[in-house]
Amino acid sequence: MNGVEIPVEVPGALAGQAPLVVAMDGPSGTGKSSVSRRLATRLGARYLDTGAMYRVATLRVLRTGIELTDSAAIGAAVKELPLTIGTDPSQEVIELDGEDVSAEIRGDAVTKAVSAVSAVAEVRELLVALQREITATAQRIVVEGRDIGTVVLPDADAKIYLTASAEARAERRNQQNIREGRGDDYAAVLADVQRRDNLDSTRKVSPLRPAADAVLVDTSELNMDEVIDELYRVVAQQISTTGGNR
Ligand code: C5P
Repeated sequence: MNGVEIPVEVPGALAGQAPLVVAMDGPSGTGKSSVSRRLATRLGARYLDTGAMYRVATLRVLRTGIELTDSAAIGAAVKELPLTIGTDPSQEVIELDGEDVSAEIRGDAVTKAVSAVSAVAEVRELLVALQREITATAQRIVVEGRDIGTVVLPDADAKIYLTASAEARAERRNQQNIREGRGDDYAAVLADVQRRDNLDSTRKVSPLRPAADAVLVDTSELNMDEVIDELYRVVAQQISTTGGNR
């Protein structure tokens, strides 16, 4: 919002360089990645896209030609994952064995297979450990995913769960597909959103659900600037309640 003051008292932890860990969870299509990146920039923090890490693991599995039903083989294939992931919110770096895979991991093949790969316990164990390691080396960071507030970083200073109706999320994704030349098929996109929601929320390992102490923010009716302002307010509020130290 241009030049509009945010009516919230900014605690020192938010304004300065004090350590700050923000967990940002929610289903796909809520605008989570874009808003997490922008929130990180506004907070002077690093940004970690954990979905990208599951996507790289999935690409590795697809390239090895393993059946998606073979959990043991998937676990073995990602045991040593030569993954590089950057945490600069203004510059995306995602590499597999030194190769830039940032575009390929957003493609259809990976998107279709990622729920199956991310349901494998060994994959989660490995990536969760890596996510905690990366977070520990950053002073201030926004970590985005599905299980950050519940499993990866239960002690995060602030926890947000972004939601939006399935229809609003499908509409956004479809508009993005149109913009990026991937065609216009709202019905198919809605079906895919619902399929992934269902897989992610019913899987046995780390099902998608809000942490008990997360603040829910519904983005269905908000534009990007409104979401960022709301998140900034929510983080400030959580920090002043928890003292930034759960
Ligand atoms: O956020 P994004 O849509 O890129 O995530 C891709 C997939 O990775 C999700 O659909 C989910 O299956 C998986 N994921 C996960 N846990 C996370 C982040 C992503 O299982 N923390």
